[in-house]
Amino acid sequence: LASRMKVKASEVIAKLMSLGVMATMNQAVDVDTAMLIATDFGYEVEQGITEEIGIQMFEEAEEGGEMQPRSPVVTVMGHVDHGKTSILDAIRKTDVAVGEAGGITQHIGAYHVRSSAGDVTFVDTPGHAAFTEMRSRGAQITDLVILVVAADDGVMDQTREAINHAQAAGVPILVAVNKIDKPNADIDRVKRELSDLNLAPEDWGGQTVYCETSAKKNIGIDNLMESIQLVAEMLELKADPTRKAKGRVVEAQLDKGRGAVATVLVQEGTLNRGDHFVVGQFSGKVRAMLDDKGRPIKKAGPSIPVEVQGLSGVPSAGDEFLVVTDEKMAKSVSSARALKAREMELGATSKISLDKLFEKMNEGEVQELRVIIRADVQGTLEAFAKAAEELSTKDIKVKVLHEGTGTITESDILLASASEAIIIGFNVRPTVKVKDLAVRENVDVRSYDVIYHALDDIRNAMVGMLEPTF
Ligand code: GDP
Repeated sequence: LASRMKVKASEVIAKLMSLGVMATMNQAVDVDTAMLIATDFGYEVEQGITEEIGIQMFEEAEEGGEMQPRSPVVTVMGHVDHGKTSILDAIRKTDVAVGEAGGITQHIGAYHVRSSAGDVTFVDTPGHAAFTEMRSRGAQITDLVILVVAADDGVMDQTREAINHAQAAGVPILVAVNKIDKPNADIDRVKRELSDLNLAPEDWGGQTVYCETSAKKNIGIDNLMESIQLVAEMLELKADPTRKAKGRVVEAQLDKGRGAVATVLVQEGTLNRGDHFVVGQFSGKVRAMLDDKGRPIKKAGPSIPVEVQGLSGVPSAGDEFLVVTDEKMAKSVSSARALKAREMELGATSKISLDKLFEKMNEGEVQELRVIIRADVQGTLEAFAKAAEELSTKDIKVKVLHEGTGTITESDILLASASEAIIIGFNVRPTVKVKDLAVRENVDVRSYDVIYHALDDIRNAMVGMLEPTF
């Protein structure tokens, strides 16, 4: 292989070792490994199709079809107890498809509502943690976030977090001011508090669409559905239903009777029973499909969630789902992916860290240092956020993505991972569980006692003078 590629045998052996394959000069390696190595050295392999070239060619061939409007995919976020679940339940009741031939809503992770205002797909796991976990896998399935704020409680911690997570993802926000039936409801207060967070309502000269709802008394739900359509129209959501299907896994599990099953949200094309596919590191053939009402279906188009049976293993939420031409291609791509994932795991390096900032800046890879701040007291947060942003130079901007009092959370790690940010904590220590997640997600978490030490480190990192840490 080395001589065919005109490289040194030792280079090939080193590459193999980085993949965890301990090979000698005249040992045979399997086809998939050889293909991966050859691609790494910039060669095209005739015998098989590797992930890089195969999928790329395949995707290009699929482009240029007929784009048609698709319905929006929505995630509901907000502080605990502000009414996310209640609003989703109230919306589900407006679904005209429920009650049709044997339809009972199943919890498959997402569902599609047909209403007189238009169709909408809801992701069934409300909250920003699930949303950002998907995003940290490169999956952006949400077109629009509904931010639920209780009128009697106003903006709370998780409201702010949800806003930061949605904004970091660049997803537009529609506000639902809920619980307006409560005697102590204060809608203006919610509007005021959200205006301070750059979400001023349209009637106050802002750009954010607001709806007033009572999930409990079923007030304003129809208006909410209409507003979703209004915001969605501006986004001009389109997909090509004629191509082979492409989508994302919303959730997956091992079912006793049916084997590995996954809820897939189709994003492009049409998924048909009998299609061969690759999903994450697994492959399969669509043996059966169920819709969100538990009914068997033969095909599913863009923005439709379906439960797929016939997978070779259980993928993760956020994994890409791609229909390919045949079983051979499905298998070769999935095994190449499994190898690649191993390689990434072995050579895992942090996405961004203070240590590597200067290097990456010079290579033009980063223009923005994103920071998430946690502190024991509010005063520290404000002082540090202001001082850190003032460190911005013409080459690099320091941007605070999120700040909050209290300990570093799993959702902070996920946001950092998805947004390539670092985390700085003042007098707060992450729990072991959070630390483990940070290691898995390769997130740089730094703890300080005083503000100026942290500022010094950032300043030094920006000019390549940070003392190495061991
Ligand atoms: P979640 O944690 O955001 O999903 O909130 P839930 O939907 O579980 O609601 C929390 C509590 O608030 C429940 O007891 C609901 O019955 C109540 N609730 C939800 N919406 C309303 C509303 O519009 N009005 C009133 N009065 N109570 C509501």
